[in-house]
Amino acid sequence: MRRAPGVRGVPAVRAAAIALLLVAGCSSNGGTKQAVSTTTSSSTTSSTTTTTAEPVTTSSTIVPLPAMRSDAAHVLATPKGFILPIEGGAPGAWKVMTPCGSTAIVHGGDTIGAATVVLDPGHGGDETGAVGPGGTVERDLNFAVARRVKADLEREGATVVLTRTGDYRETLATRAEIAQKLKPPVFISIHHNGGNDLVRDRPGTETFFQVHSPASRRLAGLLYDEEYRYFRSLPNTTWFADRDAGAKYRPGQNGGDYYGILRLTNGVTAALSEALYITNPKEEALLVQANVQEGEAQAITRAVRRFMLGDDQGTGYTTPYPRTEPAGPGGGTNGCVDPPLE
Ligand SMILES: [Zn+2]
Repeated sequence: MRRAPGVRGVPAVRAAAIALLLVAGCSSNGGTKQAVSTTTSSSTTSSTTTTTAEPVTTSSTIVPLPAMRSDAAHVLATPKGFILPIEGGAPGAWKVMTPCGSTAIVHGGDTIGAATVVLDPGHGGDETGAVGPGGTVERDLNFAVARRVKADLEREGATVVLTRTGDYRETLATRAEIAQKLKPPVFISIHHNGGNDLVRDRPGTETFFQVHSPASRRLAGLLYDEEYRYFRSLPNTTWFADRDAGAKYRPGQNGGDYYGILRLTNGVTAALSEALYITNPKEEALLVQANVQEGEAQAITRAVRRFMLGDDQGTGYTTPYPRTEPAGPGGGTNGCVDPPLE
């Protein structure tokens, strides 16, 4: 195996090991720590009328998403706000898997036993993900959008859990373990792209599904359909893209999924969203806007609604060209330092 260009100076064998942990196609070059604004102006547009009496089916009433609840102690929302898989212990002193994938005892907190949707804001801490020419850091943008999706879905009745609740490193193993513990009907890893093949006149939105899961394929196609349609409506004419942009998959060497977050969530319906390229100055200029972040979040929310409440297929399905280049490194335990959990 050739040395991976994304992991310069790393011996080929270890590079291969790192490659197996890859988060996503977004490049993680550039060490800028400058953060994008994560102001969360919640533009509430919900006009849902909830009634306590007979069911109402007026056009102003939307069908709520199911709220998944359980008294089981699968995941801990710690007093400091971390979401961590419970591996043992007892109420008051849970043994948890830490963001870096080791174990610790955490006191207090609230247990979570189920979720309708688990959202995974990609990267975190010194794993920045892609960085835009204007300094927009993918790590922060992913988080800002994920928080908006959470708020939007919760307004529609869903119970939503984020795998990452602040700016810290977190292994793919810990993120996936949260999904494996909660077994949500929907898991979405939220990313923004870098490393395009070409420039074209329409958005290069990409969504990835799990190779062997028809449900994941449908989820990715619905995400593509809603995201692409929204971005296409924006005033921009120059978009970055790969020549096989669309809803697709990337097989690993053993026939499973190349991307760790889709592989490790096996058994849970998961998709990975690479909404736009923050490495394109034109797209970056859109993505820093709160209304565009909210537009993206609402597109994802609509996709979740269609996935859960309907049976239609998505759009944009494409056959990916074979790739040999590794995605950006990251997601492993190497160099990972846990934040103070208490
Ligand atoms: Zn990414």
